[in-house]
Amino acid sequence: MSSPRQIAVLGATGSIGSSTLDVIARHPERFRASVLAAHRQVEALAELCVRHRPALAVIGDPALEGELARRLSAAGVDCAVAAGPEAISEAASGSLCDTVVAAIVGAAGLDSTLAAARAGKRLLLANKESIVMAGPLLLAALRQGGGELIPIDSEHNAIFQCLPGGRPDLGHSGVRRLILTASGGPFRGRSRAELAGITPEQACRHPNWSMGRKISVDSATLMNKGLEVIEALHLFQASPDAIEVLVHPQSLVHSLVEYVDGSVLAQLGNPDMRTAIAHALAWPDRVDSGVPPLDLAAHAALHFEQPDLGTFRCLALAFQALRAGGDATAILNAANEIAVEAFLAGALPFLSIADVVESVLMELPPQPVVDVQSLTERDRTAREAARRILRNAC
Ligand code: NAD
Ligand code: MG
Repeated sequence: MSSPRQIAVLGATGSIGSSTLDVIARHPERFRASVLAAHRQVEALAELCVRHRPALAVIGDPALEGELARRLSAAGVDCAVAAGPEAISEAASGSLCDTVVAAIVGAAGLDSTLAAARAGKRLLLANKESIVMAGPLLLAALRQGGGELIPIDSEHNAIFQCLPGGRPDLGHSGVRRLILTASGGPFRGRSRAELAGITPEQACRHPNWSMGRKISVDSATLMNKGLEVIEALHLFQASPDAIEVLVHPQSLVHSLVEYVDGSVLAQLGNPDMRTAIAHALAWPDRVDSGVPPLDLAAHAALHFEQPDLGTFRCLALAFQALRAGGDATAILNAANEIAVEAFLAGALPFLSIADVVESVLMELPPQPVVDVQSLTERDRTAREAARRILRNAC
C-alpha cells in the first residue's frame, strides 16, 4: 500500500476539524494529520497534537505561539510550531501536506484556501465563505495549481457523488437541475412575529446537526442555504435558475441531481459530517467513517416542502446577490459575518440580521471581481458599513 495521505487540518479545533480527525484516526494506514491549525484555542490544539502527533502545529494568534510551544514541550510532543495567518497559508501550500481540509470559519479561511489551491493540493472544502467571496479566483487558482477540489459541505458532497465521476461540468452531463436540500433549521414553520425574541442559544440548537455557532445561526436564518446556492453555482458551473432549494426536515437526503431524462439521483445518509469527510478524504475509494448505517425503516417518512422566503429573507438576499453578480456575494458574506457576530453577542435581534445584510448590499453596488487584494478591500468596506449600520441602529 502507498504511504498515508499527509493531511493539513485547518480549523482543527472546530466541529468539522474534530470530525475530520475522528475519520483520520480510524485509518492510520491511509491518512496522517501532518499539520494542525487553529485560531486561539491553544489548549485544545495542544491536546490534539498529543493525540495526533502532527509534524507542524500552527496557532492563528501570534501572541499564543510561546504558550503552544511550552505546552507541547511539556507534553513531550516533538512537532514544529508556527503562528499567524501567513504561517497557516504557508502550511497549506507547503511540503508537509498533500491534502488540505479547509475548515476555518468565515472569510478568515480565504487566504489559506487559495494557497492550497494554487499549490495543487487536494482541497477538501468546508469553508464555504471562501468560495462565496472569491468563487472565480478560487477556481482560477485550482486550474493554475492543477489539484482537485472535493466538497465537504454535505449538500455539495452529495451532488458531487450524484454526478458522473464527480464531474462538475454540467454542460456535458445532461443535468437539468441541482436540488439542494435544507433542514429548515430550528425555526421552520414559524412566522416572523414568532422569531422576534429569538436568543443565540435557541438559534444554535439545530434539530439535526451539531455545528459551530456561526454556521448554526446561518442555518437558522437560512443564510447558510443561500451561501450554499452560491457555492454550488461556482463548484458545478451552474446557472442560478438551475439551482433549487427544497426544505427536507429529516436531513437524510443530502441533495439531488435531476437529469434531462427525468432521472433524479440523490445521496442519503445519517446527518453526520463524517460521511462527507470520509468520502472526500478517500475519493475515489470508500472507507468506514464511523457513521452508523442509515435505517430508513426506522424513519417513518421523508418530507419535502418549499422554503419560506418571506420569513427567511436571508435566502432571498443570497439569490439577489447571486443575480447581481460581481462581488455582491462577497459583500453579502461580509455583512452577514458582522451581523451574525452582533447577534451572537446579544447586540442585534435575530430578524435584523437580514436588514443589516440588505442595507449593506444596497449601499455597495457590485463591482467586478478582479483580484484578491481588491476583494479583501471590498470585504473590509462592507464590514465597516455593517458596523456603522449596527451602531446607528442602537
Ligand atoms: P467551528 O466554529 O466549530 O470551528 C472553526 C475553526 O476555525 C476552529 O478550529 C477555529 O479555531 C478556526 N478559526 C476561526 N477563525 C480563525 C482564524 N482567524 N484563523 C485561523 N483559524 C480560525 O466551525 P465549523 O462548524 O467547524 O465550520 C467550519 C467551516 O465549515 C465553516 O465555513 C462552515 O460553514 C463549514 N461547514 C461546517 C459544517 C458543520 O457541520 N459544522 C458543515 C458544512 C460546512
Ligand atoms: Mg451544508
